[in-house]
Amino acid sequence: MRLLLCATLLIGAVSVSSAVPAAAANSSVVTRGTFSVDFRDLTGSADQNVADRIIETFFAVYPQMAADFRPDAPRKVQIAIDPAWTGIAAAENGRIMINPIRLKEHPEDVDLVTHELMHIIQEGGHGNQPLWLIEGSADYARSVYGIDNAGAHWGMPAPGPKTRYDEGYRVTARFLSWLETNGHKGIVKALFDLLQAGKYKDRRWKKFTGETLDQLWADYLAGSAMVVRQVGPPPTPERLEQARRLIEQMTADRRLAQSVETPGQPASPGSVSASPATKPNPARP
Ligand SMILES: [Zn+2]
Repeated sequence: MRLLLCATLLIGAVSVSSAVPAAAANSSVVTRGTFSVDFRDLTGSADQNVADRIIETFFAVYPQMAADFRPDAPRKVQIAIDPAWTGIAAAENGRIMINPIRLKEHPEDVDLVTHELMHIIQEGGHGNQPLWLIEGSADYARSVYGIDNAGAHWGMPAPGPKTRYDEGYRVTARFLSWLETNGHKGIVKALFDLLQAGKYKDRRWKKFTGETLDQLWADYLAGSAMVVRQVGPPPTPERLEQARRLIEQMTADRRLAQSVETPGQPASPGSVSASPATKPNPARP
């Protein structure tokens, strides 16, 4: 499977070998229900609160995204804060890599994980998949499922006169959001299914909507697109409560682990288990 980079977010992404000894890494596998996140802080020094929020984000968004888009999506995802990754974030083969420097500068931006998790959902597709639609769909997912886009000051900009639908990311995401709420509910899932099947063609938009992509974009520019709209539906109270309970449980688990831990033998209470980090060796460009 190919590596999905967040191209507009990249700052000269390069791959280098990790110089962080495994012993310094802080890793844990957290399981809730049938879903697990294998969290690896390969720096050994990431802020614990940020790590908790990343894990919280996984459980708050991924099971629902999988149910909505691809019920057979992987049940276990690895999320690594990886100094070997010098872009901002990327997803490949069930693994998400996050640049620790960028995370330290923007600890509030935990929903970048939501974007990358959508790429995990998208994995398994076949054929030629246009990157603008892949990335636009990932940001659309972030707008819908993200737990704290407002806290990260993340939103989808209104289009300018020279903006095009195929710019990807937030530009495309806002277009998709407008379509979903203006007569074409379900279009994102329909496009997702086409992409998964390797049958996407631009002309398929007309079959779904009765208009070509260019016509739809013109409608978007001319119509309510210029009205500042809500970024996306806010998280439901149930999802926020679920996330809050998860954080409380993880905090309690960690306190328990600290109270019983003996040197060289980290405790593994409940479903939070410590495991030695292994050096990742993903295929990278
Ligand atoms: Zn992306």
